[in-house]
Amino acid sequence: MLSKSRFTRGLICEKSLWLYKHKKEERVISESAQAIFAMGTSIGELATQYFPGGVMAVKGDFPTADSAKYTLELIAGGVETIYEATFIYDNTLVAVDILHKNNGKWYLYEVKSTNSAKYEHVKDVAIQYYVVTGCGIQLEDAFVMHFNRDYVRQGDIDVKKLFNATSVLNQVLSWQDEIRPRISAFLSMLEGDEPLVEMGKHCTSPYTCDYTDYCKSLLPKTEEKIILSSTPEVLPGKVREYVSSVEYPICHLDFETIMPGVPLFDNTRPYQQLPFQYSIHFQNEKDGKISHSEYLAPSDLNIDPRKELITRLIEDTKNAKTIFVYHIIFERGRIKEMIRDFPEYSAGLKSIISRLKDLIIPFKKKYYRTETMGSSSSIKVVLPAVCPGLSYDNLEYPDGMAASNAFLSMYYCNAPETIAKTRKDLLEYCHLDTLAMVKIFEVLKGV
Ligand code: SF4
Repeated sequence: MLSKSRFTRGLICEKSLWLYKHKKEERVISESAQAIFAMGTSIGELATQYFPGGVMAVKGDFPTADSAKYTLELIAGGVETIYEATFIYDNTLVAVDILHKNNGKWYLYEVKSTNSAKYEHVKDVAIQYYVVTGCGIQLEDAFVMHFNRDYVRQGDIDVKKLFNATSVLNQVLSWQDEIRPRISAFLSMLEGDEPLVEMGKHCTSPYTCDYTDYCKSLLPKTEEKIILSSTPEVLPGKVREYVSSVEYPICHLDFETIMPGVPLFDNTRPYQQLPFQYSIHFQNEKDGKISHSEYLAPSDLNIDPRKELITRLIEDTKNAKTIFVYHIIFERGRIKEMIRDFPEYSAGLKSIISRLKDLIIPFKKKYYRTETMGSSSSIKVVLPAVCPGLSYDNLEYPDGMAASNAFLSMYYCNAPETIAKTRKDLLEYCHLDTLAMVKIFEVLKGV
C-alpha cells in the first residue's frame, strides 16, 4: 500500500520510493532533517487549535487501517472537526491534517511550516483529495495552511492570526487525472528490481533526499582531482588599497541565527532571523595581540536573549574603528532588525553599522584568488585556499544552518551532557568563523 508521503516521494524520484520500501537501512536522516521534522510535528499540533475541539483519528504513532475505520465512525457520528482524518482508497492511505465541516460542507487543510503555499504542496493535497473523495466524502475546498508572514507575536500565540489558509483547489483538480495511473505505476515498480535513476537536481530540490549517500556510493569512482594550493592571482594595488583603508583598532564579527517558524518572542514574526550567538576577535593595533570575546544565548528558548546580546555586542565592539564582517548584507540586516525591535539601543547599533567593513570584497572582486577557490568567495572555500591547513572540515557543524538547528534542538533535549556538548560545539564553530577572518586578513596584509 502507498501513503501520501510515499506517493509524493515517488513523484520526486521512483528510486527513492523503491529504496524506502526495500532498503530502509540505507536511509540517512540528517540532524537538520530531524529538527525540521520535529518542528513540523509541533507546528501541526499547534495548527489544530485553528479549529479547536476536534477529535484525533490516529490513536498510535502512525495512521493505520484502524484509524481509517475510526474516521468513518467519527464522520457518521456527526463529528465536524477531525485531526489526522485517515482514508484508504485505491491502495493508498492518507491522513488529512485537519478535516473540517462548515455549513454541511467538508474542507481539507494540509498544514505546512512555510510562509506560503508552494508548488510541491499541491501534490500533497492532490493525493489526499483523490483518496478522500474516492471514499465518498465530497470536499468543498482544499487548503494549504501556512504561516502568515505578517504576524507579529504579542504575548501568547494567536493561532488564528499566525496561520493563513490558501486554497489550492484548482491546481489540485488539474492533477486528479494523473493520480490513478501514477499509483498503478508506482505499485508495479515496487514489485520490480531497483530502478535506475541518475542523480540530479531532484536529489536536493525540493528536499535533500535521504538516500543521497547511498546513491553517491554507487557512482563510478573517478580519480580524485587534487588541486594543490596554487599560486594566487593577486591584484596587489587593489589589495593594498583595501588594507590601507582599514583603521585600527579592528575586530572581526560573526553572528549565528535561528529562524523559528512559530515566533518565540514578542515583536518577532515567522521565520525572522534571530541572532543567538556571536564571536569577536579584536586587535588593538597592526601586529598587536589578538583577544577573543563571544556570546551564546541560554539554551532555554523561553528567554529572549536579544537584549543581553545587544548590550554585550555594543560593549565588545565599542573600541573598534573597523568591524569586519564577511558578507555585510547578513550582519547589517540583523543589526537593522535589532534597531527596529529595540529602538532604545539604536545609537549603539547604528554606530556598529557605520563601522562595518566587508572582508569578502577582495575575493568577490577577484583582487585575490586561487584556482581552488574557483568562482566562489564563500569563507568556507576562501579559508583553506588562502590559509592551507585551516578549514571547517573537522567541525561538528558544516554550516550555519546546521549550527542553527543544533541550537534549536537544545529546546527539545533533556540530557545535560548533550546540551553541554552542543554548546561547546557551537562556540567552537562560531569562533572559527572569526578566527578565519583574522587569518584571511593577515594574508591580505602580507601582499
Ligand atoms: S539520491 Fe537522488 S537518485 Fe538517489 S534516490 Fe534520492 S533522489 Fe533518487
